[in-house]
Parts: sequence; C-alpha cells; structure tokens
Amino acid sequence: MPAQLLDGVAVANAIKEEVAQEVKALSDRGLRPGLAAVLVGDNPSSQIYVSSKVKSCETLGIYSEKHELPQTTTTEQLLELVDMLNESDLIDGILVQLPLPKQIDTAKILLSVDPAKDVDGFHPMNVGKLYLNQETLAPCTPSGIIEMLNYYRIEIQGKRAVVLGRSDIVGKPMAMLLLHRHATVTICHSRTADLPSVTREADILVAAIGRAAMVTADFVKPGAVVVDVGMNKLSSIDEVRAVFGEDEKRLGELQRKGYTLVGDVNPKSVAPVAGYLTPVPGGVGPLTIAMLMKNTVKAARMRRLNE
Ligand code: NDP
Repeated sequence: MPAQLLDGVAVANAIKEEVAQEVKALSDRGLRPGLAAVLVGDNPSSQIYVSSKVKSCETLGIYSEKHELPQTTTTEQLLELVDMLNESDLIDGILVQLPLPKQIDTAKILLSVDPAKDVDGFHPMNVGKLYLNQETLAPCTPSGIIEMLNYYRIEIQGKRAVVLGRSDIVGKPMAMLLLHRHATVTICHSRTADLPSVTREADILVAAIGRAAMVTADFVKPGAVVVDVGMNKLSSIDEVRAVFGEDEKRLGELQRKGYTLVGDVNPKSVAPVAGYLTPVPGGVGPLTIAMLMKNTVKAARMRRLNE
C-alpha cells in the first residue's frame, strides 16, 4: 500500500483556527497581537513570503506592519528600524525576512531583535533555551512538523529519528525538538558517509537539504514516516520527466508557470515504501506560516500577560 499523505493544509488550518480564536480573546481585552515584517531589497521569493505572512495576519485578526527597505540599506539603518520595533508596544513579533543583502551583517541583526519578540526563534538566547528545553519561541518550520506529527498521532517517543540537514533554521532545531520528545536522534549532513544506510535506520526521517528529489526508496525503511521539507524548483522538461515521468499535472504546471516544485524526496520512488509522506507542495510549507502566527500570539501572551 502506498504511503498515506500527511496533509499540511489541513494541519495549518487547524492551527490557524485556534490562533484566530486566541487573537479574538486577546483583542477583546485590548491586547491585539501585532507582527512587524521587515523586507530588505527586491528578492522576488522574499516579497512573496512577506506578502503571504502579512495576508495571514489580516485573515486571523493580527495587527501587522510591513516595512520595506531598499537593497542598498546598511546594517546601521536596519538596526535603527529593529530598535524602533523593539520599542513599539503595538508589536509582539518581529520578522526580518532572510536572506538579507550581502552588505548587511545578518548575525548582528538577528542579535538585535528583542528575544521576547523573536517569532522566528533565531536569536541566540532562544536557540539556547530550545537547547535547554526551556519554554521559548522555537523556529516555525520544525515546530510545525512536530504539530503535524501530533495531529496525525504519530508517536515520537522511543522512535529512531534521522534529520537530514544541519541548518540553524531547520535541521538543528528539528533534531532538538525530536530529542526533547524522546526520539533517538541522528543528524546527517553533506559529509555523512554512506547516507542511505543511516537514513534507513529511521522510523521518522526529516529531509531538509535543498537537493531536488535526492531521497529515493533506498534511503527509506519500509513503513517510515518521511517528512519532506525541501522546496526546489524544477524548470526543465527533462528534470520534470526524470522525477514525475509523464505526469500531466506537473508537465502542465511547467508549461504554465515555468517550473514545478519538488521536495528533497522523490515521491514516486518513496511513496511505495514509506508509511507516511508529506507532499510538496501542500506538506510542510503551509505549516511554517501557521506557526509564525502561533508564535506571534505566544509572544503577545508572554510579553503582555507574563504567561
Ligand atoms: P541549508 O542550505 O541551510 O542547509 C542544507 C543542509 O543540508 C546542510 O546541513 C547541508 O550539509 C545538507 N546537505 C546538502 N546537500 C547534502 C547532501 N547531498 N547530502 C547530505 N546532506 C546535504 O538549507 P535549509 O535547511 O535552509 O533548507 C533546506 C530545504 O528546506 C531547502 O530546500 C529549503 O528551500 C527548504 N525549506 C522549506 C521551508 C518550508 O517552509 N517548507 C522552510 C525552510 C526551508 P552541510 O551542513 O554539510 O553543508
């Protein structure tokens, strides 16, 4: 039997519904949560991400501000804006969309965000709290994945989990969250020897490497839960055919949009082996924004109500 698909849209909707209720309850008490999104430069993907985050705020009743700065912005200018947002009582969450232009010192900017308003969970203080398993604002993509596993009642405790990728945004926090839920966790990366033999140990395999369709059936233990974080664009017909064969939907999308999305997992190869699989699109992607909204409400509660 092919893998059951884990529906990220359904999980995201459930999270958003809960968030909307909390926003209403807080707003009724004069404590409407607020998010500031900061976009520097003209990266088209970043523009799309920021717009959809702001739109989600509007839908859920969260106050939002969008700050757009030019490509030539200096570190000092951006620090000034972040300081202003740190001071603003309307703002509970500050999101600085990455990547920033080269001339900006990203580490310095992330350090300047008030940890209490760090809804992305990238400030070293929050990274440390996550490591120590203390209450914190954790990065959105990996915490969304935990929510998804919970939603589908997939047991984590006692399971072998393998996280493929060790980035600060996905891989490392994912490993920590799984560890704190009592999985036995292995982290793999580009220097891991004989990768498939390690990933085949996994009951839960999270792929976050940014390599189109690299994870094939030989990486996967039969029945495993496979979570595909990757978002890669395939933009040539040969690439699309190599992964999806003569799939009319994908070929049509390529013609219409100039690309089709694929994760780090090859779905045609892995679906017959895995027990559960997240689709791309429609798997992990929708969870990230939903968790950003959830973190904004959490930050509002912590800052305004000391909860
Ligand atoms: P990074 O590029 O920061 O990290 C990639 C990691 O994968 C690195 O640790 C790297 O190893 C490892 N890696 C790269 N190639 C290989 C390989 N051939 N074999 C084994 N390991 C490898 O990526 P991110 O973590 O930021 O993102 C990963 C993917 O997830 C991307 O496709 C991104 O677009 C997507 N993403 C999706 C999100 C969503 O909402 N759905 C959110 C965030 C990311 P090393 O450290 O040794 O270099």
